[in-house]
Amino acid sequence: MSKEIISVKNLKYVYKSPTGDKVALDDVNLKINAGEFVAIIGTNGSGKSTLAKHFNALLIPTEGKIFVDGADTSDEKNFLRIRQNVGMVFQNPDNEIVAAIVEDDVAFGPENLGAAPEEIRRRVDSALEVVNMSEYKKFSPAKLSGGQKQRIAIAGVLAMRTKIIVFDEPTAMLDPQGRREILNTVKKLHAEGLTIIYITHFPEEAAQAEKIIVMDAGKIIDAGTPEKIFSDAKKIRRLGLEIPAAVELANRLRRKGFKLPEKILTGEELAKSLTNLKRI
Ligand code: ADP
Ligand code: MG
Repeated sequence: MSKEIISVKNLKYVYKSPTGDKVALDDVNLKINAGEFVAIIGTNGSGKSTLAKHFNALLIPTEGKIFVDGADTSDEKNFLRIRQNVGMVFQNPDNEIVAAIVEDDVAFGPENLGAAPEEIRRRVDSALEVVNMSEYKKFSPAKLSGGQKQRIAIAGVLAMRTKIIVFDEPTAMLDPQGRREILNTVKKLHAEGLTIIYITHFPEEAAQAEKIIVMDAGKIIDAGTPEKIFSDAKKIRRLGLEIPAAVELANRLRRKGFKLPEKILTGEELAKSLTNLKRI
């Protein structure tokens, strides 16, 4: 039985300003199970980052409630516990890296939590191993590529031992190589049992999740498996979003009479189906 770890109930969030209020989230309802890998897609300004900041109580609902592992995020007494449960990885790794040496940077979180030195060492070593960056532990982060820096930022979160990691467009500033590194790391963390919430505007990345949530103008307008969400290409495009290239190509081939299986999301799946076709 999967256990619910995040529950969002009738969430409304309003940015208040002298020049006028902005409703950024409106009646958002959502449940995420422990160990789930959920992607969130939506055009710029649809409310994805605002929602992400609610998961670790950086923002508090204007109306409605969020519970993280049972703790109400609007109750100040729960802030520490919530932040120990939910790590965040943002778009620009340069804004997240604080130390001049990789291993010191990764140690920063557990040090702040007051962990013992041997415990910190263990956590830093294992976090760097998970993101495949052990050999860089004495390096200066400034010397690393964008993908490597982002993996150091992820290691910093892992060293805090959070159960949930929220990624807010972590690959937006990376080249294709860096994007692959991050996605592979995220898939590995998911396989190890972490709960992953992954905001992206790359449909190929969203297709790797177990479930996709679609946001538009502050609301969740659709949710389901990648197959379901990307099956209606017209609807996705109408929202200003893209479907994965492999899904698009498979749809075209089907229209030309190719008998392809229903579940094709990646280039590899498409290639495999096409090779199988030839053999028949
Ligand atoms: P996304 O991450 O999907 O691009 P955001 O959550 O950043 O969307 O923004 C949702 C809406 O809230 C947008 O209309 C945006 O302009 C507005 N918004 C975001 N941050 C602020 C802020 N600090 N003050 C006022 N409005 C904001
Ligand atoms: Mg955003």
